[in-house]
Amino acid sequence: MSTYDPQNIFAKILRGEIPCTKVYEDEHTIAFMDIMPQADGHTLIVPKNPSVNLLDADAATFGPLFTTVQKIARAVKSGMDADGVVITQFNEAAAGQTVFHLHVHVIPRWEGVALRKHSGAMADSALLQAHAEKIKAAL
Ligand code: 5GP
Repeated sequence: MSTYDPQNIFAKILRGEIPCTKVYEDEHTIAFMDIMPQADGHTLIVPKNPSVNLLDADAATFGPLFTTVQKIARAVKSGMDADGVVITQFNEAAAGQTVFHLHVHVIPRWEGVALRKHSGAMADSALLQAHAEKIKAAL
């Protein structure tokens, strides 16, 4: 198990040291657009409680975290006019984790539209903002 590094990119976003395209924030969680979306509207939900991933998290994190995941999943599906949403969450590098602060992916799906590569191409920031506006309007 990796140890928590407070210099990870999501810890910096939580501290406001680097920007993100935010769609939602409450006492326990923040949600923002994934910078390398696997589909238009790909959103990340990050608990404010620090942990590397699900394996070392305090179980008290999951109630507020998944309350936000559900809220965002509903807004992503309706705001992006998607046919469905996939929820993913990776634990450790061998499983595909690249940022070592617990987070949950909400990815909209449309019939017949393939997912893009995980951690693939950077999206245009104006496009991320436009998608964030659609999701926020559906919250
Ligand atoms: P995972 O750790 O679950 O594999 O994925 C981390 C996710 O964070 C990837 O989908 C990647 O595109 C996204 N990501 C990496 N760096 C940044 C960043 O600086 N800002 C945002 N908004 N997303 C990021």
